[in-house]
Amino acid sequence: MLSPIVDYHQDDENHWVARLACGHFQHVRHDPPWVNRVWVTSQEGREAKLGLELFCKKCERNEPPDYTPLKN
Ligand SMILES: [Zn+2]
Repeated sequence: MLSPIVDYHQDDENHWVARLACGHFQHVRHDPPWVNRVWVTSQEGREAKLGLELFCKKCERNEPPDYTPLKN
């Protein structure tokens, strides 16, 4: 399913990880030329992509959540 980005953090290797509204984490690496996500390397770029919907494979596989999303 598609789930919007609500926040980000960095993993132990300084790769950026998006927190999705569904409760899963998903790496959003900038790994050219295969994955071109230069936006993830800047604060402005990351903020601009908040709300962007990513396809969540973990939801497809019914994996348990990585974190508990904040409820409004
Ligand atoms: Zn998910």
